[in-house]
Amino acid sequence: MPTDRATVPRFADRLRWPVEPAQGGWYSAAEHAAVGALLAESNDWRVGWKPAAGVAAFEEAFAAYTGSRFAVAFNSGGTALEMLLHYLQLEPGDEVISCAVNFVGPLIAVIGQGARLVVAEPEPHTLNLDPADTERVLSARTRAIVVTHWNGAVCDLSPFADLAEQHPHPVHGPPRIIVDAARACGGRAPSGARVGAEGWATMFSFESKKLMTTFGQGGMVTTDDPNLAERLHRLRTYGGTQEWGTNQLMTKAQAAVGLVQLSRLNEMNDARIARAHQRTTLLKGVEELTLPPTLDDHQHLYYRHNLLVPQSWAGPGRDELMELLARDYGVGSIISDRPAYLFHRLVRDHLGDQRCPRAERLTARLLCPCLHPRIPAADEQQITDAIRHATARIARTRPGTRSLRRKP
Ligand SMILES: *Cc1c(COP(=O)(O)O)cnc(C)c1O
Repeated sequence: MPTDRATVPRFADRLRWPVEPAQGGWYSAAEHAAVGALLAESNDWRVGWKPAAGVAAFEEAFAAYTGSRFAVAFNSGGTALEMLLHYLQLEPGDEVISCAVNFVGPLIAVIGQGARLVVAEPEPHTLNLDPADTERVLSARTRAIVVTHWNGAVCDLSPFADLAEQHPHPVHGPPRIIVDAARACGGRAPSGARVGAEGWATMFSFESKKLMTTFGQGGMVTTDDPNLAERLHRLRTYGGTQEWGTNQLMTKAQAAVGLVQLSRLNEMNDARIARAHQRTTLLKGVEELTLPPTLDDHQHLYYRHNLLVPQSWAGPGRDELMELLARDYGVGSIISDRPAYLFHRLVRDHLGDQRCPRAERLTARLLCPCLHPRIPAADEQQITDAIRHATARIARTRPGTRSLRRKP
């Protein structure tokens, strides 16, 4: 059985490069200047920290950047997704589909909003939600499909839009396509549209590790649906005068720094893509490793650089490689993400006997060694050398590996 954790914790004290970067987007002099100006301006009893104008400016810029009509800022991606689902007024028996390979947040958001979570398999190339398997689990009770652009690979939404049209809910119509773009801010769809412009609604996260960050927390929803945008505004500020709501506002300081991060997003993503492509090129000759797809035009942002070991190494062999990388080379790596039902009690209890064997098989082969554009170039060379050496050492201890190698 594969390890029960996302990381192999032994030898953590030997890591020169952590299991994952603590930060995604980084700050330049421009962010420092914006924050300095904000501090000076807000420390006045007539001004203070009221977020309205600053948050609206960030939302407007974000909507323009993504090519969506509306953008509504939240204090996190998680709360943004919960409010999106809340808007649908899900009832017991309603179903929401999501990929088994996903961060646990979107899955428990569905459960928390009272719907039945239905998990489907990933397609083997990007590990994004598989349209064919989605069709298998679609039913007359499906209200929404949550499509995650997992680890930065932008998923083509058109097959899901077609499926939704073909399988309308008898009362509510076609299931809504909700996009989780927490790991794909600034990406482009195969159609050329910016992530955030397609689907019914798209959620972004500006948590510390994400491609841009608003002091470590923050989120956004983009949509073309005016009713949704209006309701989201009220939901995050105590419901206006009529309805339920709560306080999930982004702060003025987060918005100010977000505006600058957004202006630098393409440049930061370019640096990350260049690093990922370099790593992929340097690892091309390692025949045991299946490398992430190289997609052009910002269709893959490499939030993580996924490696898959051969099927015959699944579980223990993969764990051995992670331990060797940590112990002898100081290279940390993470398994992101295993099916949540394998390690999260609420998800497991909720799903009952739902299982996704392909997701389990693929993620038993998965490891994501630390990748960040700010790792010095010489270090990056050492990391790729380490991956190559460590993989060769495991291959020697596992005879027959080469002939057993199988593509996903
Ligand atoms: C980070 C993340 C979220 C949640 O975002 P927060 O802002 O941390 O709440 C949701 N989905 C995915 C895929 C993520 O990576």
